[in-house]
Amino acid sequence: MALMTGEEYIESIRKIKMQVYMFGKKIENPVDDPILRPSLNSVRMTYDLAQIPEYKDLMTAVDPDTGKTINRFCHIHRSTQDLMNKVKMQRLCGQKTAACFQRCVGMDAFNAEWSTTYEVDKVHGTHYHENFVKFLHYVQEKDLTVDGAMTDPKGDRSKAPHAQEDPDLYLRVVERRPDGVVVRGAKAHQTGILNSHEVLVMPTIAMGPDDKDYAISFAVPLDSPNLFMIVGRQSCDTRKLEGSKMDVGNPEFGGVEALTIFDNVFVPNDRIFLNGESEFAGMLVERFAGYHRQSYGGCKVGVGDVLIGAAAVAAEYNGAAKASHIKDKLIEMTHLNETLYACGIACSAEGQPTESGNYLINLLLANVCKQNVTRFPYEIVRLAEDIAGGLMVTAPSEKDLRDPKLGAYVEKYLRGNPAVTTENRLKILRLIENLSLGTAAVGYRTESMHGAGSPQAQRIMIARQGNLGAKKKLAKAIAHIEE
Ligand code: SF4
Ligand code: FE
Repeated sequence: MALMTGEEYIESIRKIKMQVYMFGKKIENPVDDPILRPSLNSVRMTYDLAQIPEYKDLMTAVDPDTGKTINRFCHIHRSTQDLMNKVKMQRLCGQKTAACFQRCVGMDAFNAEWSTTYEVDKVHGTHYHENFVKFLHYVQEKDLTVDGAMTDPKGDRSKAPHAQEDPDLYLRVVERRPDGVVVRGAKAHQTGILNSHEVLVMPTIAMGPDDKDYAISFAVPLDSPNLFMIVGRQSCDTRKLEGSKMDVGNPEFGGVEALTIFDNVFVPNDRIFLNGESEFAGMLVERFAGYHRQSYGGCKVGVGDVLIGAAAVAAEYNGAAKASHIKDKLIEMTHLNETLYACGIACSAEGQPTESGNYLINLLLANVCKQNVTRFPYEIVRLAEDIAGGLMVTAPSEKDLRDPKLGAYVEKYLRGNPAVTTENRLKILRLIENLSLGTAAVGYRTESMHGAGSPQAQRIMIARQGNLGAKKKLAKAIAHIEE
């Protein structure tokens, strides 16, 4: 099958009978739900862009094993150029959606699984790589979206998975059968799971021998029996029910998270990619997290481009574009945003092949990338709010603007630059509100903090990868110290 069009993708998701709950109710038609649809549209963009000749080089790749052209979101990176193209593709998708477009978690999981399963098999004589390659070729052939699910609820953070009071707080195998395993547990904060065909589950932390039942990785379709999702709330989510595109700020795109419950889900043997080899859980986590930390040097930069553009437009509409401090703030925002991009490109350019042949990013630089992402978008948002002015949070609604009596007053008193309509001024302010405080703030701000691992997770990796010993030797050599 060729690459899916955006429309074919939407219809393929419509066919999957997922169990989705929101506000205490089962959602029978998630595809057309006004709160959920913008999130689906963001993933659709990964299909739409792949159909446009201008973006073909970034959005597609040729799989060297099958010789087929596939969407790059299904690709196994075989070079540093592949790694850099991935980041560029993500920046592009961020620019076109101003939201999380969700398909990267699957891509990052594919690449982590590809190399880890290969190395597990070498040590244990297992067949996980073969299972995984079969699954991957199925995904590539059908052009599917796969949710990479890592984050367990984790319960008491001071205790290992097996030592939790409630043993289900990390996803685990509860039954072993000749034809497969049954798993129970949950994965939290799953962006994009509602818009995926399959979910690829991985362990969430490095594990010891007592955690064997928790060292499990597999993929199952989203309509698997006993698998269901509870959609998370977002600031301003119900604005999408009010029928005003303007008040939503980014009416077409978004991202939605869900708590995903595996309440005794069966996994057949050929869909298992790790099962009890607990010493490899850490490798899978480290590689997936590394790829996803690289990803943030692309996607958040693309969204940042939109926010910087919105701030510049707001400045023009306010009549303040020529003020030197405004120009300087836009320069600062650009500097911060491009620093993130530089990190995404750098960890890619410094990538190295793994034993299995695919390319892994430079882990130190990928962690530095994500550590910067936990900070810079906050400063970029702060500057955008500074430039926008308080009106972005005090402006009346679109209904007031359209009201026969009130409209004339809103029009008159909220106009800035006389060459610009009040409507356009309010639209750009609502977009900034959306990115800094509304539904997209989940994807641009808090996800920058906690997505792909919270700041401390990167600091642990930076400590491990930073090679302080070598740096001390350098200093001693320069100072002619002999011990
Ligand atoms: Fe992709 Fe970024 Fe969303 Fe992660 S946060 S899935 S990298 S868009
Ligand atoms: Fe993310």
